[in-house]
Amino acid sequence: METIVRRDIRKLKLEELKAFFVDQGEKPFRAHQVHEWLWQKSAKDFDQMSNLSLETRLMLKQHFVINHIQVDHMQQSADGTIKNAVKLHDGLIVESVLIPTEKRITACVSSQVGCSLDCKFCATARLKRMRNLNADEIYDQVVAIQQQAELFFNRPLTNVVFMGMGEPLLNYTNVLEAIEKITSQKGLNMASKRITVSTVGIAKMIQKMADDEVKFNLAVSLHAALNETRSSIMPINDTNPLEELGEALEYWYQKRRRKVTYEYVVWKGINDSPEQANALLKFCLRVPSKVNLIEYNPIDAGLFQQASDSAIAMYQHLLESNGIVTRIRKSRGKDIDAACGQLANKFI
Ligand code: SAH
Repeated sequence: METIVRRDIRKLKLEELKAFFVDQGEKPFRAHQVHEWLWQKSAKDFDQMSNLSLETRLMLKQHFVINHIQVDHMQQSADGTIKNAVKLHDGLIVESVLIPTEKRITACVSSQVGCSLDCKFCATARLKRMRNLNADEIYDQVVAIQQQAELFFNRPLTNVVFMGMGEPLLNYTNVLEAIEKITSQKGLNMASKRITVSTVGIAKMIQKMADDEVKFNLAVSLHAALNETRSSIMPINDTNPLEELGEALEYWYQKRRRKVTYEYVVWKGINDSPEQANALLKFCLRVPSKVNLIEYNPIDAGLFQQASDSAIAMYQHLLESNGIVTRIRKSRGKDIDAACGQLANKFI
């Protein structure tokens, strides 16, 4: 007997799905129906596809699987933030976070299982990179959070940030495909300007994003604007130094005309001196940019410590007096380890 290896149906483009139906002697419009079930209605099972005949559903089941994610575990913080442990079809777990504020509901999603980049202050770095997420696994995290936004807050999802586990630009193709679905009328129909991809700043990928004319926002986790300091906390800086990053960002701005956001944590004894702040200012003046000074979320006993309020005020004053919009970002979801850099599947 011939055994069919069942494929993940959401890896097929609409055109491929059409070709499949034609191949099976069915009408190509069935592909549109299935596509709608998969991407607009987030069907988890072929039996939900009620406008297909039982025979068609059976035929689909023989050829395909739907590898939908499962929210395995949910925790809510005192500040309303919700952290999801998301189980993938192969049993691996990633985390995603819903962050409510007065005006927004933001989904913070993961792009990889673990991370390969070894930033010294980040809990995810301690999990080695196991694999990239597929586009549908990224998309499903957004859909799950959109449903939670409606269910728990009675408000729509307004923003998506790629600030969960992993480095999105090392899983570029799948991230792009997920964003296409998030922004598509045949998906979540969300505006690109509400999506932000956050990266350690891989220069050649930033150039590629500029060439691809992507429409979402770019955030760069800078954390230091002197090579020696940055290399000591972010090893990627050894092979991808600030000069190259700066050039890539200039190229991005020339092509895209969109401000870059820098994420920056100020740590005691590491980057809390005026010299470091001046280096950041100089870097910021290369391309139109704004700075988020992020509160540090401790991940161990004391190697990194949040700088004093006066050091942060020194940064803010220097940047703002030179025309750089600077926001101080307080952590959300700290009590459930849902804050930036704390995602590490600790309780699983
Ligand atoms: N790899 C991407 C996506 C991760 S985003 C990137 O680096 O941008 C997570 C954000 O949280 C990054 O800005 C990261 O530098 C920051 N971060 C990591 N660990 C942190 C910690 N312990 N406290 C505060 N921010 C942290």
